[in-house]
Amino acid sequence: VVHWPFSATQRRKLNWVQLAGHKGNFKAADEGNILKKFSENEKQCFEKLRYDVLLPFVPSFHGAVEKDGESFLHMTDLLSNFDLPNVMDCKMGDVLGGGAGPGAGAAQAERRPVQEMVEVDSEGPTPQEHSQRGVTKPRYMQWRESMSSTNTLGFRIEGIKKSDGTCRTDFKKTRSKQDVVQVFKDFVGGNPDILKSYLSRLKEIQQALKTSEFFKQHEVIGSSLLFIHDHTSNAQVWIIDFGKTTALPEGQTLNHDIPWQEGNREDGYLWGLQNLLDTLKSVSNE
Ligand code: ATP
Ligand code: MG
Ligand code: MG
Repeated sequence: VVHWPFSATQRRKLNWVQLAGHKGNFKAADEGNILKKFSENEKQCFEKLRYDVLLPFVPSFHGAVEKDGESFLHMTDLLSNFDLPNVMDCKMGDVLGGGAGPGAGAAQAERRPVQEMVEVDSEGPTPQEHSQRGVTKPRYMQWRESMSSTNTLGFRIEGIKKSDGTCRTDFKKTRSKQDVVQVFKDFVGGNPDILKSYLSRLKEIQQALKTSEFFKQHEVIGSSLLFIHDHTSNAQVWIIDFGKTTALPEGQTLNHDIPWQEGNREDGYLWGLQNLLDTLKSVSNE
């Protein structure tokens, strides 16, 4: 039981929302900050982002820290300036780690229960997968990409938490532009000011990405745009999650706007972002 008056820490814990990842990956930290489970890869990205034009669009990074014998990345809690925020996690790009894509080799040994597929689509698993009661992780990820808007629009909604307390992460089959438009419309509650702020922030992000040296030199896999707004019409978008973002070999760069092909490491990020912008524009025009 939590008694009134809440301390700042308690209030933060009650308000804090995690729309993806394992529950244990995040811990509360000092006022205005959070801790995310350490990854060397993500740390390196944050360190390089310090000197990049993307800096204003990523959570401020305060270094690696230890707590209770575990390592974490110490960063700004993007929710801390909001009052009962509405939050949406949108995973960007059309290659999220499936099949012949990035990390496939290592993930081939990992398996997901066949039941996870059946719950979304009873026709999903092959007879062989049924008899083995499992699917390989790359196959599972590729299947999720094909069920959702990842393949059709280059982004997908991972989860939404609204200020009324409702939380949805069941967007695995939200695939058509029409469906996505409806989800966004419901998320912004038809508020044109919020929609306008989101659109202008996304355009700023798009501009920054087009000139970013970091972006040019990295394959951005499984990163999200985090949308946050509240009843004061404060609305922001942030680039989060660099856990699977990897540097290309020296001298190599990506376009981020052309289809993935075996070996080219293209992630479809800019293609997805343009579709996301078009989707939001459709919401304003409805
Ligand atoms: P996955 O790889 O499965 O997406 P992850 O463990 O890498 O998960 P993130 O995607 O970085 O974790 O974050 C998970 C969720 O936590 C986000 O969807 C968001 O709701 C919340 N979150 C992450 N970083 C922040 C932040 N800096 N401020 C506020 N909320 C955050
Ligand atoms: Mg994530
Ligand atoms: Mg991640």
